[in-house]
Amino acid sequence: MDKNIIVAIDGYSSCGKSTLAKALAKKLHYIYVDSGAMYRAVALYFLRNNIDTHDHAQIEDALKNIHLNFHSRDYETHITLNGEEVSEEIRMMPVSEKVSEVSALKEVRREMVKQQQRMGESKNIVMDGRDIGTAVFPDAPIKIFMTADPAVRAQRRYDEIHHKNPDLTLEDIFENIAHRDYQDTTREESPLIRAKDALILDNTNLTPDEQLHFALDKVEKLKG
Ligand code: C5P
Repeated sequence: MDKNIIVAIDGYSSCGKSTLAKALAKKLHYIYVDSGAMYRAVALYFLRNNIDTHDHAQIEDALKNIHLNFHSRDYETHITLNGEEVSEEIRMMPVSEKVSEVSALKEVRREMVKQQQRMGESKNIVMDGRDIGTAVFPDAPIKIFMTADPAVRAQRRYDEIHHKNPDLTLEDIFENIAHRDYQDTTREESPLIRAKDALILDNTNLTPDEQLHFALDKVEKLKG
């Protein structure tokens, strides 16, 4: 095989990165990796085991005891934490509230980035996250940086999850998104930032199909 192709998709919380990444991977028959699910699973472990995020020894110990595995069924992310399927639980509010604190820890980032780089060693993949085009795959030939109006993002996330979390209000979601954006862009370790060579995709007024065409067009051009 020619050199494998990596499509790196980064951007703010809830702006449709996984929708685009999944659709693109499906169309191209690439592997889809949701890097946020990995940080969420680590955050779930930290919550369940009361890991003190100020205690470096505890963090290192915890990381040694965390084993994550992806298994993809029809491009939906299924992730296991030490053998237990946690794909649903990691989307719940307690994890959403904890994840940015945990993902800001350098020990956690170092370990996740290492695992993510391994996944991209020989396969064509689409990976979405916050630092994929800057830290994980700085040489990725295609980088997309996604953004959208915060109110639109909150509404989309609300529509997606409120049936499973009926007590959640649109305001709760808006606040959580704003909080995560703030933490993700201001942290010391690989903050969310657009890579210089990333294409900006603002999908406030785009349908999923339109954004897919935008990205597909870039990949097709690259493949020639
Ligand atoms: O993508 P998702 O919103 O599920 O990611 C959850 C959180 O994981 C983000 O808010 C961010 O704190 C963290 N994350 C990260 N780096 C990535 C992917 C996610 O720090 N590459």
